[in-house]
Amino acid sequence: MPQTENLRRAALITGGAKGIGRAICLALAENGMNIAVNYAGSAAAAEETAAACRALGVQAITLQADVRSPEACQKLVEDTAAAFGRIDVLVNNAGITADKLLLRMTEADFDNVLATNLKGAFFCTKAACRFMMHQRYGRIISVSSVVGLHGNAGQANYAASKAGLIGLTKSTAKEYAARNITANAVAPGFIATDMTAVLSEPARAAAEAAIPAGKIGHAEDVAAAVAFLAGEQAGYITGQVLCVDGGMGM
Ligand code: NAP
Repeated sequence: MPQTENLRRAALITGGAKGIGRAICLALAENGMNIAVNYAGSAAAAEETAAACRALGVQAITLQADVRSPEACQKLVEDTAAAFGRIDVLVNNAGITADKLLLRMTEADFDNVLATNLKGAFFCTKAACRFMMHQRYGRIISVSSVVGLHGNAGQANYAASKAGLIGLTKSTAKEYAARNITANAVAPGFIATDMTAVLSEPARAAAEAAIPAGKIGHAEDVAAAVAFLAGEQAGYITGQVLCVDGGMGM
């Protein structure tokens, strides 16, 4: 829904420089929201994404922050609210993998994935909720995964982080429903991005064969679901997990 200057909603997307995060930035900008593009290391890509958002007629800024740091997440949210006067939408999208079979997975492999994918979302959600409570309006969307629902060999750390995001989402939804703040998750299946580009051709073919739709998804497929949940019209939907997986998880 296009928005007017007198109430232009503001959205913060973690890991928004590239891949699914970039597509989410553009989809929300297309819907008239001002955009804060968070990045960890991809400064040039973040600036390019922000420029693409501005070309759609909204304001866009880039904010460097490592979501593993609670102080950095607090500042990220504060800087977004300072730039736009509000923060209406938080998309917890930043994520990493460190795949290994369980017996080879180190504590560091486990901790780093949990710190980025799950604790980062906790820090950002906590910081954003303070603003959203005062506004009596908020939309929080976390990018989970079908792996968080079903598990996956070689991804115990990643699956645990993505399952944890669903628990975080449902708990946040229950705590803040009465404040007009919704919290939902999307669970992408196999989406063509840098994260999946590292997979071997046999692994890719096996994944594709397991998708009833018969094809790998695109970042825009996930962004469309996030944009729906981020919109004002989705205000009566909370605590849900929307799979964007071509039927993979059925
Ligand atoms: P991607 O292209 O590798 O993007 C990951 C993003 O996360 C990057 O923008 C990266 O930022 C950011 N990031 C990583 N560590 C960070 C940190 N410590 N602080 C802040 N940002 C950090 O992968 P993607 O496929 O688009 O993944 C986006 C999300 O979708 C992830 O949560 C992923 O788990 C989820 N997902 C992906 C798939 C898939 O098939 N691709 C499926 C299910 C779920 P920098 O580049 O600036 O470092």
